[in-house]
Amino acid sequence: LGMPSVPLKLAERRRSRTLQVGSVAVGGDARVSVQSMTTTRTSDIGATLQQIAELTATGCDIVRVACPTQDDADALATIARKSQIPVIADIHFQPKYVFAAIDAGCAAVRVNPGNIKQFDDKVKEIARAASTAGTPIRIGVNAGSLDKRLLAKYGKATPEALVESALWECSLFEEHGFHDIKISVKHNDPVVMVSAYRLLAERCDYPLHLGVTEAGPAFQGTIKSATAFGALLSQGIGDTIRVSLSAPPAEEVKVGLQILQSLGLRERTLEIVSCPSCGRAQVDVYKLAEEVTAGLEGMEVPLRVAVMGCVVNGPGEAREADLGVASGNGKGQIFVKGEVIKTVPESKIVETLIDEAMKIAEQMEKDGAAS
Ligand code: SF4
Repeated sequence: LGMPSVPLKLAERRRSRTLQVGSVAVGGDARVSVQSMTTTRTSDIGATLQQIAELTATGCDIVRVACPTQDDADALATIARKSQIPVIADIHFQPKYVFAAIDAGCAAVRVNPGNIKQFDDKVKEIARAASTAGTPIRIGVNAGSLDKRLLAKYGKATPEALVESALWECSLFEEHGFHDIKISVKHNDPVVMVSAYRLLAERCDYPLHLGVTEAGPAFQGTIKSATAFGALLSQGIGDTIRVSLSAPPAEEVKVGLQILQSLGLRERTLEIVSCPSCGRAQVDVYKLAEEVTAGLEGMEVPLRVAVMGCVVNGPGEAREADLGVASGNGKGQIFVKGEVIKTVPESKIVETLIDEAMKIAEQMEKDGAAS
């Protein structure tokens, strides 16, 4: 008797409302989208649009821009019009910028009604303007800016405190009949963050924007986000993600897309399957993997390329991939779709793999265009 087969899929997606951030649907059955945030001054329209173009080229679905001043608010209309992807204005405290962002045609606004209410109670007018324009709102609760009342009640930013804060913020809109909302409850500790989102997922049916806040420099932030998002997305929780890194925003997008691809939530593009190397390796696997990755960067077809250091697991993995090399004895056996097509000297492995990858990619594109 063999092993029983197990389903090759994650948990069912949590059922949530769907909302429309410009051309991108968020929630429901819509694919999980990837967001990032520009680091330019929003008032510098040229630089901001340039960065948005880079993010778009990297695969970003939705971009957020900060709006702390009137000059930034004045720039929103041009940015929203010229950006190829939906633009969300990120606003704190100032209702006048929320109205400006809605008028400017921003695809959504991130604002917490709680801090609007504190200074100038325009929540009702915001709900009305957003509803008339069809502009959704993201309520973003962050551990670092948790309401004092809740901080006093819970002692610190616990999952319960974050969720209570978010639901209270939602209620401020709900009382005006506004439900076009998505929510984030960010914390820098993935364990607290995961617990908060799990709790929130049970308590409402709004789409959820996942984020580990202040995740840190690229390496640490990548790991924190990947673990936290992995835990949540594998349970069907999460509708849009933002990886926060102290690194250029395009890096955030690359990490976000990789997380989704790793979970099977996005079609894979290029995937390099390389062995970790060990005492049996007969080539410099790291260098080989790096050179092949660099040579194939930007390739958009779902190609799986195996780079293996020796003939122990090498041929097996290389055969499973679209293309691969198993090295040994100063030579590389090149496999395409499971067949050894040639054996080349070590110095020719990289260029041969890149050549073959290009040929396969061209064929895939042709096949794709024909079907
Ligand atoms: Fe070691 Fe060979 Fe496995 Fe690479 S493929 S880890 S070199 S045994």
